[in-house]
Amino acid sequence: MKIRWEVVLVVVSVLLTLIFLLSLFLGRNLLVGNKNIATKNEANVALSQNIYSKCDKFNEKDKRFACYKEVSLYAIENGKSILGLMELTNSSKSPHLLEHSIGRAILITANYDLKKVRVKCASSCSPAYYHGIAEEWAVYAPKRLNEFKDFLLTYCSLDNPKTEWCHHNIGHFYLAVNKSLDKSLALCDALDADNNFLECSYGVIHEQLIQFGITNLFNMCSKYDGRVKSACYTISSRLFPQWLSDTIKMDDPLKICNDSYGQIPEKLNHCYRSIAWVIGQKNVSPNLEWCQSVRDEYRNLCVSGLKNPESFWDIFGCSIGGEDEGVNTCSQ
Ligand SMILES: [Zn+2]
Repeated sequence: MKIRWEVVLVVVSVLLTLIFLLSLFLGRNLLVGNKNIATKNEANVALSQNIYSKCDKFNEKDKRFACYKEVSLYAIENGKSILGLMELTNSSKSPHLLEHSIGRAILITANYDLKKVRVKCASSCSPAYYHGIAEEWAVYAPKRLNEFKDFLLTYCSLDNPKTEWCHHNIGHFYLAVNKSLDKSLALCDALDADNNFLECSYGVIHEQLIQFGITNLFNMCSKYDGRVKSACYTISSRLFPQWLSDTIKMDDPLKICNDSYGQIPEKLNHCYRSIAWVIGQKNVSPNLEWCQSVRDEYRNLCVSGLKNPESFWDIFGCSIGGEDEGVNTCSQ
């Protein structure tokens, strides 16, 4: 029988294409499967319970956050609602980071369609949902800043951002993209209005803690000038006790602040105010007698701090940084 070479050629190329496509499919599923094997088994059992409790067992915040990300993505992919997940945040160890992880998961499962992520969470999500979207967009499309800015503009005016922390979200994005405190704070500094600048810097420093931890942060603040220096110290001294809140021991609750003596200029040190808030969250009233253990020169700062707890979400007043530092950070 005469072999028709053209037919053989067609059959062979069809077979090769099929084998190639099959290997791609299997390879992808093996990859995805390997990554999620542990999560899948556990999440199958526990989707109706608090699926995040296994993450809360991690003492290190970065590991806890990585776990939240994995569980949230799996839960959303398997039909869990945003509201259902948001309800679990209050009983988790790090509600804020958990909300980050939900925002990230929604962006991924929406195929990076920014319009969809807003619709999916029109009124039910806190700003942290948008922090997670900023982080993930920075991973997905670091060069497409304008699309992210346009997305923010669909739900809040950057000229009047008080309601939705728009510049704060941009700050998260700047640091997530640039991985550089210098560059990111400089971008915030390009904003004229001081309140916008502060909100942006707040997002930058928050993201710095998430990505790099507290190491060397105060040293970095020391090299800046003007309102950037003022914002850097003020915001980081407020945020780091909240970041390290798990490590606060009640037999020496002020240790974190006391350890930072000399690293933060007194007028810009919000550590004691922040500790007072963190402890309040643990249902303990700050005790002014604790300030007896504090060095003389810091005692007033300690007393006034414990009397005026300051949370993550408090907006800074016009006095931040203050004229004492020669920097007026308020535009009014
Ligand atoms: Zn956040």
